[in-house]
Amino acid sequence: MYRTVIGLEIHAQLSTKTKAFCSCSADVFELEANTAICPVCTGQPGALPVLNESVVEYAVKAALALNCKINLKSTFDRKNYFYPDLPKGYQITQYFTPIAENGFLKFKVDGEEKKVRIRRIHIEEDAGKMIHQGSDSISEATGSLVNLNRCGVPLIEIVTEPDISSPKEARIFMELLRDTLRALDVCSGDMEKGALRCDANISIVDEEAKKASNRVEVKNINSFKFVEKALEFERERIIKALESGSNVEKETRTWNFAKRETSSMRSKEEENDYRYFPEPDLPPLRLTRKYIEMIERSLPELPQEKIERLVREYGIPEYDATVLASDGEVARFFEDVAKRTGNPKEASNWIMTELLREINQRGISLRDMPIKVEHFVRLFELLKQETISVKIAKELFPIMVETGKFPDQLVKERGMEQISDKNLIEEIVLKAMKANPKAVQQYKEGKKGVMGYFIGAVMKETKGKANPAVVNEVVRRLLET
Ligand SMILES: [Zn+2]
Repeated sequence: MYRTVIGLEIHAQLSTKTKAFCSCSADVFELEANTAICPVCTGQPGALPVLNESVVEYAVKAALALNCKINLKSTFDRKNYFYPDLPKGYQITQYFTPIAENGFLKFKVDGEEKKVRIRRIHIEEDAGKMIHQGSDSISEATGSLVNLNRCGVPLIEIVTEPDISSPKEARIFMELLRDTLRALDVCSGDMEKGALRCDANISIVDEEAKKASNRVEVKNINSFKFVEKALEFERERIIKALESGSNVEKETRTWNFAKRETSSMRSKEEENDYRYFPEPDLPPLRLTRKYIEMIERSLPELPQEKIERLVREYGIPEYDATVLASDGEVARFFEDVAKRTGNPKEASNWIMTELLREINQRGISLRDMPIKVEHFVRLFELLKQETISVKIAKELFPIMVETGKFPDQLVKERGMEQISDKNLIEEIVLKAMKANPKAVQQYKEGKKGVMGYFIGAVMKETKGKANPAVVNEVVRRLLET
């Protein structure tokens, strides 16, 4: 029996307007290189940092949502190292006393409750970015450029205890964390743009041999899917080593997106000597209970709470609730449709499949969709009155999205009303029976499958608009007599 032990370190970029310690814009992803910099974030002599109040507010919000204990006094410290993308020669972080500790996040994995403890959350500033020209790998590059826009962009680092016991759990945890930070409006949660970054530690315990593997760190995981894939790859690699009686190196590895595998980056040094010391230019951060309580009262409903409430109030399956709750706007829309139509299960089916597919395919947000609650109200009405079949409704849906027109209007314009007229359908079936007496004979001899031939004939004649239930009933009745 092998037990998997995973811990995560997540860097989340706070979506404040300005940087952590200066007034440069913090929204730098699409800016031209080195256009959002100043003496403070590029470490010019004599420039002094001033703490951005929003950074504290956002960090406290995240910490409360992750059930952490907030420290009324925390400190800023310097993490010293040399790298070209770090002109100051140090990052400001919270090493000795972080802003928050001892939290947790609870979620369900395959129906089982899971609790992952959060060891600490601290505020820190980001470093710049190197661009190696001519190649992605430094060795083949002909030159390197540095973009300091990201220097001083505020981050929180969230460190979990090693409570995660499978790659799948790691992915679910990351998705819930993203949804939580998004609901709080403190981080865009966009892994592809580097707004949420994840490093994972993994080791394997052989329960029978009572032996544990060395711990491997995987860096540079830039999508939710790859969190799971990279850890699955590592788990296999470590188990293979244990089974052959050896062990893996204690090292840092990087996930190679193109090759779908991890490769060695560097062997893990004992503890990097960053010569941490208290930041002399910033006083300790002191918070009052009143301030924390004020922020606590302002917290929105969090994804996990929302999932539980949607299941309770609308009686929809937990899976549906999880999909809907991952986007606050979609969840709100679902609630409106469910209330207006009085049919929550049908509402969640349509929103989860048809609506979310259209949103993803078009790469737009729900807000920009021409589909409103009223569209669903009228669509459900048409289905209930059997004016259209489900099949026709699904054909209509993309046209509704395209044109913004109401379904009843489209049905009229395109003559898509369902045909439930028994006399008309009987007429078509009788005609088809007359044209093909051999098929009728086959049916009477026990080949019930030829029913499909006659149903098909009716559908062809009516251009798919015949009511399937009526067609079925008429075809069976006429063939039996
Ligand atoms: Zn600046």
